[in-house]
Amino acid sequence: MLVAGDAAGHLLNNGYTFRGVDMAIGAGIAAAETILEARKRKDYSAAGLQSYEKRLRREPSLKDMYTFKRVPGYLRNKRLYGVYPELICSAAEAVYRIDGTSKRKIFRELRGQTKGRVSTLTLIRDLLGGARTF
Ligand SMILES: Cc1cc2nc3c(=O)[nH]c(=O)nc-3n(C[C@H](O)[C@H](O)[C@H](O)COP(=O)(O)OP(=O)(O)OC[C@H]3O[C@@H](n4cnc5c(N)ncnc54)[C@H](O)[C@@H]3O)c2cc1C
Repeated sequence: MLVAGDAAGHLLNNGYTFRGVDMAIGAGIAAAETILEARKRKDYSAAGLQSYEKRLRREPSLKDMYTFKRVPGYLRNKRLYGVYPELICSAAEAVYRIDGTSKRKIFRELRGQTKGRVSTLTLIRDLLGGARTF
């Protein structure tokens, strides 16, 4: 049996795209080619259908599943949905708001905004984790 598309878990959410259609098409083509080959050889055994996996590994859209394999784990970080968006919004407000008070340099402003919200070590760890993941 050959499984393709959603049923085979050929889905990718890397945080900025949610894909499955292109992967289902790629896997469907790979499955069809494998079946045609098996038909020619009259061999539908598991061993005879193994070229399906090789085709899947060559398929560009499915290669992306390996490229972004760390993403699901990284996206479980709750700070991405709370602390960091809040930090970005409050830092932007502090930088852009003109209210008659004097301004701090941007880097000092950003450092100030993190106080009590996230430690520098955690912030660096999350940033490096993001760089490794994407
Ligand atoms: C809300 C949402 C948003 C999405 N957005 C995107 C996007 O922006 N871009 C993207 O690339 N992907 C997106 N996807 C994912 C994408 O829709 C799927 O990855 C893709 O449709 C998978 O195709 P498939 O052929 O494997 O499965 P499906 O499209 O689910 O096709 C399976 C078909 O089999 C039928 N079926 C089920 N059981 C049986 C049965 N027993 N007998 C006969 N027929 C049966 C179903 O009715 C269905 O028509 C999104 C998915 C969701 C839910």
